[in-house]
Amino acid sequence: MWRTLLLTGTLLFFTACANHQTLKVTADAETDVIMHEGDVADDPAVWIHPSDPYKSLIIGTHKKGGGLEVYNLEGKRLQTLEDGKFNNVDLRYGMKIGDKRVDIVAASNRSDDTLALYGVDAQKRRLYPIAAKSIPTLAKSYGLCMYYDAKNANYYVFVNSKEGAFVQMQLFANGDKVDAKIVRRFEVGSQTEGCVVDDEEQALYIGEEDVAIWRYDAAFDAPNLRTSIDTTTKTGHLVSDVEGLALYLRDNGEGYLIASSQGNNRYTLYDRKSGNYLGAFEIADGVIDGTNDTDGIEVVASPIGKIYPYGFMVIQDGHDEPSKMQNFKILRIEKVFNALGLDY
Ligand code: CA
Ligand code: CA
Ligand code: CA
Ligand code: CA
Ligand code: CA
Repeated sequence: MWRTLLLTGTLLFFTACANHQTLKVTADAETDVIMHEGDVADDPAVWIHPSDPYKSLIIGTHKKGGGLEVYNLEGKRLQTLEDGKFNNVDLRYGMKIGDKRVDIVAASNRSDDTLALYGVDAQKRRLYPIAAKSIPTLAKSYGLCMYYDAKNANYYVFVNSKEGAFVQMQLFANGDKVDAKIVRRFEVGSQTEGCVVDDEEQALYIGEEDVAIWRYDAAFDAPNLRTSIDTTTKTGHLVSDVEGLALYLRDNGEGYLIASSQGNNRYTLYDRKSGNYLGAFEIADGVIDGTNDTDGIEVVASPIGKIYPYGFMVIQDGHDEPSKMQNFKILRIEKVFNALGLDY
């Protein structure tokens, strides 16, 4: 059974398969491909320019040795940082370093299990290295996400391993550079990767790839208790691997958690406050090809003028067409909210 409807000038359609209705949307833009064959792209982050949102940057990892790639909002590559096998990337704004405020980009470097750190030069729209030294993380390092604790003005990076071990590292200024120390360790149980922190809610969401999405307390001195958001069991909505996790944060404190359910090429949505499952969508072929085998995702609610007035989502695509390489797709996320009847 097929149903079509026209909404905000975009063709959206649902397809019924078994008992599940899955929304299909089409991408609105895509980045340049990574110039390396195989499974090379993994995880994106988005840096919002402080005064001109059109000058914001999409940052993607190249996990086979290319480090980071930096794109403009049209997806054109502006910078390549070939600094190692970078798996996941995240960022936070305005860390005080000396007498300056610096936006910090962190990435997990699997070449030598270290933490890669960069500052963002807003004027030049370029990343520059800012790590005080080689900063070890943990063996078989894999996923990464950042956390800003506004109450104490502390910046943290969570790094996890292929064996499900987590470290929470606190960043600190060292001259005009940044260093980090481990302040918490815990075990999730099996392979983890995707994670994201809701700073306001002090909530750390973790994807245990074959099992579930968990919510932990992000505070460094919190007990390692957790609640399940969704699972890969028959009653859950995820098909392993659980990959990227991202948050759409609204100004009123509400919003959505979005996950990449890699095994069925879908993205699942949850209410930010309750954790309740709200629906799923796929990115189908349109003018721009659809996505599958997605690793990392990112979502921002920041308005980007007329092109993305309600923010956008960035999605790693395992098979770009017609290039047969990999890249990142960009989606006007309100198409999903409109189709699912969700506020934004
Ligand atoms: Ca990321
Ligand atoms: Ca993975
Ligand atoms: Ca991945
Ligand atoms: Ca594709
Ligand atoms: Ca394409």
